[in-house]
Amino acid sequence: MTPQATSLAEIASCLAGYDPQSLRVDLAQDFIAQMLPRPQQQERLPLRQALGRVLAADIISTLQVPAADNSAMDGYALRASDLQAGQETRLTLAGTSLAGSAPRAELAAGECQRIMTGALMPPGLDTVVPQEFTRLERADQAGQADQGDIVVIPPGLLRAGDNRRLAGEDLALGSLALSAGRVLRPADLGLLASLGQAEVAVWRRLRVAVLSTGDELRAVGEPLPPGCVYDSNRYTMCAMLERLGVEVLDLGLVRDDPAALREAFGRAASLADAVISSGGVSVGEADHTKRVMAELGEVMFWRIAMRPGRPMAVGRIQGEGHTAMLFGLPGNPVAVMVTFYAFVRDALLAMSGASAAPLLMLRAATTRALRKKAGRTEYQRGFVSRAPDGSWQVEIGGNQGSGVLSSMSQANGLVVLSHEQGDVAAGEQVDVLPFDGLI
Ligand code: AMP
Ligand code: MG
Repeated sequence: MTPQATSLAEIASCLAGYDPQSLRVDLAQDFIAQMLPRPQQQERLPLRQALGRVLAADIISTLQVPAADNSAMDGYALRASDLQAGQETRLTLAGTSLAGSAPRAELAAGECQRIMTGALMPPGLDTVVPQEFTRLERADQAGQADQGDIVVIPPGLLRAGDNRRLAGEDLALGSLALSAGRVLRPADLGLLASLGQAEVAVWRRLRVAVLSTGDELRAVGEPLPPGCVYDSNRYTMCAMLERLGVEVLDLGLVRDDPAALREAFGRAASLADAVISSGGVSVGEADHTKRVMAELGEVMFWRIAMRPGRPMAVGRIQGEGHTAMLFGLPGNPVAVMVTFYAFVRDALLAMSGASAAPLLMLRAATTRALRKKAGRTEYQRGFVSRAPDGSWQVEIGGNQGSGVLSSMSQANGLVVLSHEQGDVAAGEQVDVLPFDGLI
């Protein structure tokens, strides 16, 4: 990662409406986008290992795909000029063209050739009639199966060029097959293979360190004294990161002690491109997390105009010979997930070299009226289903408290109510971010 020259104070000074005490979600996203380092190191991977990785350079087609005109059907290749208007066409069969074999010699007028899907179009022939539309009149019951047979084609069935695939119709020579920044999907790997590429250049995987802070936290498997809670955030954070395709370094649980925090955040910054912590960034925090973060680098502490979420730290912290991005997320289990989706996901994708792509949202009718204060973005847990008429509907349900993970687990999407939006009436359409396919 290269350090970014612009200081955070400079970014803040250029953002109209920047208010760290009540920062709009879209401004916070803009801010973060401006401070991200871009990837520097590439590696070449065999295609089979490249799923979900980010393409480091444009892929220009070095071949025509397909390489030559060929048949899209099993049937008979013919000249469209031989087709009779308003009456049956009778063509004499002259040979067979199989997929993978060399093109056949030119045919005489009135002749056709049996052809299989993917076989090269014989020279001079431009159209294929699928075999199921034809009738065969055998010339010589005792002779060879095809030579000399008459293929009968009904009128009005074909136009010139039907069922013929053109050379280069999939990828033309020299065309842009895939753009740098693409997160490789199954179809992309197939496309690369169709160009004959065995390997592909991708950006190095981002390394992301995760830690939880808080004296009240206990690791799973340990006894739970009164007043303590199990550390669930590390499990949700690591799982979201794994889905994002980054390399996850789970650095465990850190006590609310300055030396321990300094050591843990310093180590995280040395090992990783980005550090994600939960807890300790609230305004009323009596702990040391914020102070240690500020000591280690340049860190902004925000109250974001959102619900759930609100407190968040964003900055750059110094490891050994290396600067890492810091995302200090709130401690509440649902706030952690929502702030991750709202800010961290896109930031890590950009740091991974991925081109920005908006999240796909559904529009669904809310089954009940929603209370919403204008002046903050709200993320409400919802369950999307099909209404009896087939349209999408979303039910906001359960306890929407920012610490209530069970309602997050039961939901299948987040209803996103924009900053300006006020109360919503039952039946109104709202935006929903579906969990499936999110990362
Ligand atoms: P904080 O942001 O540190 O004030 O924490 C807010 C709430 O989230 C408190 O109730 C914490 O106990 C809880 N919390 C903080 N970290 C975690 C964690 N890793 N797992 C579960 N709950 C947490
Ligand atoms: Mg705390």
